[in-house]
Amino acid sequence: MARYTGPVCRLCRRNDEKLMLKGERCLSPKCAVEKKNQEAAGKFKRKGRGRRPKKKSEYGIRLMEKQKAKNTYGVLERQMRNYFVKAGRQPGLAGENLLRMLETRLDNVVYRLGFADSLRQARQLVMHGHFTLNGRKTDIPSCAVKPGDVIAWKTGKEKLFPYQSAAQNLSNKEIPGWLSVDAEILTGKVLALPSREDISGTINERLIVELYSK
Ligand code: SF4
Repeated sequence: MARYTGPVCRLCRRNDEKLMLKGERCLSPKCAVEKKNQEAAGKFKRKGRGRRPKKKSEYGIRLMEKQKAKNTYGVLERQMRNYFVKAGRQPGLAGENLLRMLETRLDNVVYRLGFADSLRQARQLVMHGHFTLNGRKTDIPSCAVKPGDVIAWKTGKEKLFPYQSAAQNLSNKEIPGWLSVDAEILTGKVLALPSREDISGTINERLIVELYSK
């Protein structure tokens, strides 16, 4: 399936927001959004005024929010639409259902468990068959996890750099409350489906619903 393969920092610059797509680099001064903000602050200081931001239309604002969600979770337009249709059929708020479905994708769960530095790395590790879901090898990043599911590294992957890096850095990672990790054996468990409060980030799902409902 065709996927965006260009520079990911460009996606953040377009959204004018850090989408945290590059792991450690996102927290360093090398981050492109940080640099852009510093440059803008420098210009403002020198000239005493900044460039007037372009006014966005209502449609533009909603479109941008949808793009932000798409880029944050690394899904394609068709997948987003399918998630939206499914979200609308479930009980509760369609926007929250949509975010929950994106959040419970296997690649995102591997990332949230701290087994990868970025969502992109998590997807690659899943696609290369490095994980098992409930004891079975699974290489489908979009696979939806549910409460009680156990995500583990496949046996024999202990020598891999990503495994060792995850084992070393796990204590520095913040694991969301709906997941738990056994740091000894690097195994994660889904405790519950995430509530809206459990989902970090600045995505306004209401705007996405408004866009797709037109
Ligand atoms: Fe976005 Fe990370 Fe690149 Fe910064 S370093 S622009 S947060 S992907």
